[in-house]
Amino acid sequence: MQQKIFYSIFSACFLLLLIVNIFLIFSFEAFLERELFLKLESSAKQVKDSANKYINGELKYISHHRLTIINNDGEVLYDNFADISKLDNHILRHEVQEAFKNGVAKSIRYSDTLQEKTLYYALMHDNLIIRLSNTHDYLFGSIVRFMPYFIVEFFAFLFLSLLLAKVLTRKILKPIIECDIDSLSKDSSYKELHSFVKKIKFQNKVIKQKQKEILLLIENMSDGIIWLNRHGNILSVNKSVSLYFSDIESTLSIYQLSDCTFLKIALEALEEFKKNKQQENKILQLKIAHYECEVVLSSIISKNKFKGMVIVIRNITEKKIAQKLQREFSANVTHELKTPLTSILASSEMIRNKLVAKEDLDSFVDRIYCESRRLLSMIDEILKISFFDEGKEDRLKKIRINLKNIVERVSERLSLIAEGALVTIKLDVCDCHIFGVEDLIEDSIFNICHNAIRYNKPNGEVLITLHKENDAIKLSIKDTGIGIPQDSLPRIFERFFCVDKGRSKKLGGSGLGLSIVDTALKYHNATIDVKSEVGIGSEFIITFKEVES
Ligand code: ADP
Repeated sequence: MQQKIFYSIFSACFLLLLIVNIFLIFSFEAFLERELFLKLESSAKQVKDSANKYINGELKYISHHRLTIINNDGEVLYDNFADISKLDNHILRHEVQEAFKNGVAKSIRYSDTLQEKTLYYALMHDNLIIRLSNTHDYLFGSIVRFMPYFIVEFFAFLFLSLLLAKVLTRKILKPIIECDIDSLSKDSSYKELHSFVKKIKFQNKVIKQKQKEILLLIENMSDGIIWLNRHGNILSVNKSVSLYFSDIESTLSIYQLSDCTFLKIALEALEEFKKNKQQENKILQLKIAHYECEVVLSSIISKNKFKGMVIVIRNITEKKIAQKLQREFSANVTHELKTPLTSILASSEMIRNKLVAKEDLDSFVDRIYCESRRLLSMIDEILKISFFDEGKEDRLKKIRINLKNIVERVSERLSLIAEGALVTIKLDVCDCHIFGVEDLIEDSIFNICHNAIRYNKPNGEVLITLHKENDAIKLSIKDTGIGIPQDSLPRIFERFFCVDKGRSKKLGGSGLGLSIVDTALKYHNATIDVKSEVGIGSEFIITFKEVES
């Protein structure tokens, strides 16, 4: 910008200087022309009375001007520059004709005699034309004599133009260079800058805001971030890092960290980045402060130089647990499916090979039927678990539902089973609305109620109560069954967990029901609590958030 302004001012000055100088030269030429004509005129007036003496040869005109005396026939009678015998008739010369007509005449034209552009002054005296002339070169000579002055003036002005351009550029840019955006008041001399400054101020505000947001985001990120310089000094850390290194706030260098494994990895990466061996991010998994972590180490390169390193620590403990559970689940599924299938295969093979006595055939067929049903319900439950594991529940539509209707429907569906198990179902319900997926809620309530019947005693009871409590809805399913031992209580929601495997198998259970219930309720932001006493019974309490009716 500075250069542009400087060159603009200088070019303008230089152009002005050229125009002024050209004008001066032309004006000077015109001035000299006028001066020459005056000289010619005065010389002509001086010689007019002595014209005859020049003609007769009594006088000789000695001057740098040319004197020509012509008679009224155009014949040249005297010329101090040329041999008159060789001169042609001058009657047709413009200045001669004009002088005969008007008494005096001036003309600038090409001279046949002198072979140059020439200035003529002619006057008529005693029927003679006294003509004085001089070549244009004579003028040029005068200009050349003045040339050194022109050159000095030109360079002086050129120097002044440079100086002016420099001073003006500095003066114009001074307020911009020294501009303090905040103190640029409305009455400053640069009013044109106000809208520009306004825009900059606005941009500044936006940038500061974004900067704040980014810092806030980094500060509150769940991943821990450590910035190091090339020497391993800690430049900055965010809040989450303290989860892994409790005294990180007071740690100045990475060398002060007590976790040897982490330190070794970080130092190795720092060395590799420094030696340019490693340009890409280094990603590895390790345990930091009891957490399974994924650590990403990235180099900070500026102008092709290694400046430092960023370490991102991500807690993947839950992911690891989930992976472990998934692995265990797959192993369990295989095992659990294999058991009924083996039983079905063995029984059917014995029947096929006619190894079963006629009287035992019914019990064999019965076993195949029960195991097949168990297999089918297990596959059904595994499919439900996979459905949740794949996160497909998000596709289900949540609607406003009345829990009372669902509870009544479940009780109806279970009435025959309850009757068969000699268990009475009692209801104490009122209208309670929640927002949820009807099928999932019904399946969950069915499962708990079904367990309350299955793990009950003959002549036992299942009491289902549904009521509002402050902003919550409490659904309680209380039975007078066998109860759950205290040490098993925290595990009943685990996949494939059964308190008594034999009993569950007999009752057609797989240990998957409550884990499905737990997942489905979590999806509805509902909680489930269990109270139980062996031999007395169990109570499952589900707490939902109420929807405004
Ligand atoms: P299952 O198909 O074996 O019933 P669940 O996941 O539904 O599997 O239940 C897990 C275990 O919790 C059961 O095996 C059972 O031992 C215990 N359980 C669940 N509900 C009750 C209850 N109402 N009374 C006693 N035990 C129960």
